[in-house]
Amino acid sequence: MSADILLLIDTIEDKLSSGYYDLIGILNHFDQDAIKSKMIISSRNKILPQVPENKCHDLDILNVLNDKFKHPIPQAFSKEILSRLNGVKPKYICLPHNMRGCQIAADLAINLNTSVVSGVDALIQKDDQVLLKKSVMNGKWITETAPLNYPVIFTINQGAFSAQEDIYIDIDEDIISYEEIEISDDSYTSLNISSMDDDNSSIEDAEVVIGAGRGAEDEDVIELIHEFAKFFKNGGVGASRPLCDAGIFPYSHQIGETGKVISPKLYIACGVSGSNQHIAGVRQAQEIIAINKDPQAAIFQIADIGVVASLEEFLPILLGAL
Ligand SMILES: Cc1cc2nc3c(=O)[nH]c(=O)nc-3n(C[C@H](O)[C@H](O)[C@H](O)COP(=O)(O)OP(=O)(O)OC[C@H]3O[C@@H](n4cnc5c(N)ncnc54)[C@H](O)[C@@H]3O)c2cc1C
Repeated sequence: MSADILLLIDTIEDKLSSGYYDLIGILNHFDQDAIKSKMIISSRNKILPQVPENKCHDLDILNVLNDKFKHPIPQAFSKEILSRLNGVKPKYICLPHNMRGCQIAADLAINLNTSVVSGVDALIQKDDQVLLKKSVMNGKWITETAPLNYPVIFTINQGAFSAQEDIYIDIDEDIISYEEIEISDDSYTSLNISSMDDDNSSIEDAEVVIGAGRGAEDEDVIELIHEFAKFFKNGGVGASRPLCDAGIFPYSHQIGETGKVISPKLYIACGVSGSNQHIAGVRQAQEIIAINKDPQAAIFQIADIGVVASLEEFLPILLGAL
């Protein structure tokens, strides 16, 4: 396989997984005249993705097709990739940082006898090397990792590389090829996939997320928060872990280190103290507004706008004004 960077992405019911724009956005961080990039997409039906205008001119896309890829099958996808490497290995193999991306990354690393760097937030060009930047210890430290051997496999955090200013256009069909493949691995078949969300809205896809923390656990305040979210065209409600542990929200709404990592345009933290474990899930938000009655709350350290107020008093005034 002739490529310096290999990008891997799957689909769910003919829709590219949510990490696609970050994956393609990563190409902006490499000198595109000097590298060859290839993307492999697994899907049931033919996919025609959008690509950034004037970028990725040297991108070559392969869509591997099989009916079983209606839902992702990570082990079948990684087997397919390994079968195509044939001794010619890319320098970088990149996947979205989600459960399936990590599973494929681990599988490839074992077979290629190389290492994985997971949850990368940025790439830094230093001399002739690309360093991988990521946060560790619940966001307390930032590390820069220099790969010692190649290929280096890494997973990228959602929102870390998708550029807002990019204009996406329909792909030039010349750069995509389609190939029906056999899947011999029958260790499992995915029969069905359904949303765990009670309201069917995913906080990962929402542009504005209202985060409810323990300061918002009162039933009336939760109701106000849902009302507030409805005000936005693509709004969703997330929660801190204590609210999920208490059963006030399903775990599919939990934001943070052990919940979801989100990258909305706006995150509005309501009664959230700002623990490192929670912040780990919202660091990529473009703007953060915090509403908290304690002026010393840690959330104000990362907020672009802070409102010191009690939610019971502030939210009705705000909603009345909207
Ligand atoms: C291994 C591990 C993993 C974890 N993973 C996660 C995770 O993924 N996500 C997560 O969220 N947490 C996680 N936690 C828990 C985390 O450490 C914190 O305990 C949690 O984030 C705190 O949630 P909170 O901010 O809602 O509550 P609190 O820390 O109790 O903060 C409540 C805030 O609300 C404010 N407040 C109270 N009443 C009002 C009011 N009426 N009006 C306005 N403000 C008010 C208070 O001033 C306070 O700042 C994890 C912990 C561990 C140990």
